[in-house]
Amino acid sequence: MRRGAQVNSDFAARVLDWFERHGRTHLPWQQAITAYRVWVSEIMLQQTQVATVIPYFERFMQRFPTVAALAEAPLDEVLHHWSGLGYYARARNLHRAAQQVCAVFGGEIPRHLQTLQTLPGVGRSTAAAVLSLTYGQRETILDGNVKRVIARCFAVPGWPGGSQVMARLWAIAESLTPSQRVAQYNQAMMDLGATVCTRSQPDCPQCPLVADCVAHRQGTTAAFPGKRPKKPLPQRAVRMLLVRNRAGEVLLERRPPSGLWGGLWCLPQIPPEADPLAWCMDAFQQNAALGRTLPARRHTFSHFHLDIEPIEILLNQPGCVVLEGESRVWYNARQPENVGLAAPVTRLLQEIAG
Ligand code: SF4
Repeated sequence: MRRGAQVNSDFAARVLDWFERHGRTHLPWQQAITAYRVWVSEIMLQQTQVATVIPYFERFMQRFPTVAALAEAPLDEVLHHWSGLGYYARARNLHRAAQQVCAVFGGEIPRHLQTLQTLPGVGRSTAAAVLSLTYGQRETILDGNVKRVIARCFAVPGWPGGSQVMARLWAIAESLTPSQRVAQYNQAMMDLGATVCTRSQPDCPQCPLVADCVAHRQGTTAAFPGKRPKKPLPQRAVRMLLVRNRAGEVLLERRPPSGLWGGLWCLPQIPPEADPLAWCMDAFQQNAALGRTLPARRHTFSHFHLDIEPIEILLNQPGCVVLEGESRVWYNARQPENVGLAAPVTRLLQEIAG
């Protein structure tokens, strides 16, 4: 690869030229651009594909059109609008950050890179994306797509989660960022990674960087970026109780605000060796009966597998509607309410309602 400023300006010029012809310009967050809309889209896009995000983004903007509307909304409703997108910490952070923007910054999303990064859930690349895409500020981004393009183009070895590899990628990304048309350039780099330099099958003949891409020249695109050193995921097991009252409603419990499924509604969980009927006796002071057997299932988080054994329990005696409150409710699976549910719970409720 040629070296120095010439390479860098060529690089940006080729990327921008490609963007003119192939870049995405009709995504909902690219219309009526505000820092708030760009911010929400960037958070949604962190672990999710564009096509999945679009309907979520549109519903979210309809319900929470401004940062103030988001700050004032109950967390439950925010989580409900996030249900199905996964990685719920993103929604909780977004909500907290909106409240912080209103309380500390007078409702204005900060325009300074470091200040913006003080908001929960806003990392360096997200802050840079918000400022560059909204205001055209010269800020460098390095999301997963951009990391892949740069790692391949410059054959940067190693897993980008490692601090040295990350520092090298940031340094290259910064040296490549042009001083003009930064919004288009950053958008182009993200698009290039998402649509051409894809994880498993990069379409190198269509890539504006093909002439200088080291990984392409070496035939080693699959080796970049380097993989995370492998560790088998640990396994945990729980019994999830579908406790039903005489009306057929199901008992839900709200999870603590932080941690796994934080703030979402879930089924009561007991250890795999615990007796579900004894749990019912404790909770309701009455006998119960085992209901249908539902298939066991596995839910995989980023850091462990959760093996779930669903157990239906039927409360037969009257007078069992005793646990309504802030953190426990009876839920009618046939008339779902607007609450945030953990993904396996949504599926189980659909199964028993069907
Ligand atoms: S030439 Fe291929 S591997 Fe290199 S950046 Fe372009 S798409 Fe990715």
